[in-house]
Amino acid sequence: MALGTGVGIAAQALAAKLAAVVPETAVVSPPVEKNSSPPEPDPFNTRGPSEGNRIALTFDDGPAPGVTDRILDELKQRHLVATFFMIGERVAASPELARRVAAEGHEIGNHTYTHPKLNSLPDQQVALEIQQTQDIIGEIVNCQPRCLRPPYFAFRKNQSAIPHGKGLSIIYCDVDSKDWSDPGEAKIIDAILSQTKSGSIILCHDNHQQTANCIGEILDKLLELKFNFVTISSFVDAPQIAS
Ligand SMILES: [Zn+2]
Repeated sequence: MALGTGVGIAAQALAAKLAAVVPETAVVSPPVEKNSSPPEPDPFNTRGPSEGNRIALTFDDGPAPGVTDRILDELKQRHLVATFFMIGERVAASPELARRVAAEGHEIGNHTYTHPKLNSLPDQQVALEIQQTQDIIGEIVNCQPRCLRPPYFAFRKNQSAIPHGKGLSIIYCDVDSKDWSDPGEAKIIDAILSQTKSGSIILCHDNHQQTANCIGEILDKLLELKFNFVTISSFVDAPQIAS
């Protein structure tokens, strides 16, 4: 802008005025654009609302005898709830364990029937994977999951209408424990504790012994940090707060 114009003089005067009141070290936020639209809701629910110090602990790939039951014991001792995204064929193989998860107050989510990468399947097959899992969980546990977690997070936005049409929210996570890679208990604990904040959705797996070995310590530390444990559908049904 050329100096000496009316606008230039006005801008200079404004700059001088600001310099007089704003200390040099102050961080001045960029101007907020008027009429900018609010952030779009996250269709994949990567995290929950950030107020309330709430977190949702989630376990994928079970039920797995010898691991899921150990995790259930640790949750029960501390009166905590979690969400278990179950694979349909594993529910069919371990019906008693699936029923125990529900009986102890945890939420059961849909993790497909055979754990495929849904983004490489035609819509009809995606619908079948989801529906067969709804059916087996309905038959064995007598409940209808309200949430889907796509295996490997391999999912296309344009497939969202399929689970949504069945009343299922899609759930991702913001904290990945990476326990699926068997990195050792210390790394699993550190991954969770270093990333978890109010609103976090934490991904673990209840078919890995290392997770069962350290889940008690993780729960105790999260409790020390005053987090409140909630099940996933009570979390994502709440209005999303932009963070
Ligand atoms: Zn999985």
